Amino acid sequence: ATPVSIMAGVGRGAQAGGLIKNAEALERLERIDALVVDKTGTLTEGRPEAVAVAPAPGFAEAEALRLAAGLERPGQHPLAEAVVRAAGKRGLDVPAVEGFDAPAGRGVTGAVEGRRVAVGNARLTAGLGVDAAPLAAGAERLRGEGATAFSVAVDGRPAGIVAVADPVKGTTPAALAGLAEEGVRVAVLTGDNRTTAEAVAKRLGIAEVAAEVLPEDKRRAAGRLKAGGRRVAVAGDGVNDAPALAAADAGIAMGTGTDVATGGAGVTLLGGDLTGIVRARRLPRAAMRNIR
Ligand code: ADP
Ligand code: MG
Repeated sequence: ATPVSIMAGVGRGAQAGGLIKNAEALERLERIDALVVDKTGTLTEGRPEAVAVAPAPGFAEAEALRLAAGLERPGQHPLAEAVVRAAGKRGLDVPAVEGFDAPAGRGVTGAVEGRRVAVGNARLTAGLGVDAAPLAAGAERLRGEGATAFSVAVDGRPAGIVAVADPVKGTTPAALAGLAEEGVRVAVLTGDNRTTAEAVAKRLGIAEVAAEVLPEDKRRAAGRLKAGGRRVAVAGDGVNDAPALAAADAGIAMGTGTDVATGGAGVTLLGGDLTGIVRARRLPRAAMRNIR
């Protein structure tokens, strides 16, 4: 596209609420032929709600949720907020935590009421030597429905499963259809469990899924696609996604971007949803037609 048509496109991009700041960003988006998307907050709303708490034998549901919420309260992860909200809704008194830690891509650990509490995925519980096997069947069933299910462990024993549902954005199916028309191949890359990721991808007709990816490995996965000769965009909304966004041919920060390093060269802030990418690609061409 010529500089004139691109600049016209930028004006409209801003009008369309796309927040695309410069011509270079639009050019990069025009050239991509592969898009790697984070599931949470990109395909989905990113506002998960707790849908089930399944206690382990010997634990009351409210007790597992209360301790989990105490541990999660200082955290900023959307899953943490869902757990705290669920406890609030049930009128539970949420206790304080000491020695809070949040290992990226795994979950949270700390001491609540003098007990060692951990909330997170299989990587976290396995690393702590917790036998999550008694909870596995229930968790897998919930994941098969697209929910994110993670474990609560207390003093090294499984205390329960919390399942949260994060609805697919209403705009996602149309955005994916538009990207397919544009010839952009889409792959999902997520830190979430494989069963959950595959259930959501299947519902959306996305064949390529990489699940249980650690934040530091998202960058490498984007790099591999690039090395395969593709022009790769990476879209994500989490702090953890910043390195992958920076490594892509085009990095796309979703949402408000306040929690993402958007300053990096080649990272574009896109409000709301993936339809912005389709619109951005079509705008310069539409502008070009207008000029001619
Ligand atoms: P995503 O790729 O969806 O952004 P993350 O890398 O943030 O995922 O987290 C990966 C997984 O680690 C989550 O699906 C969840 O199982 C677990 N996890 C991370 N943070 C938390 C938390 N605060 N509470 C419970 N589980 C967590
Ligand atoms: Mg994330």
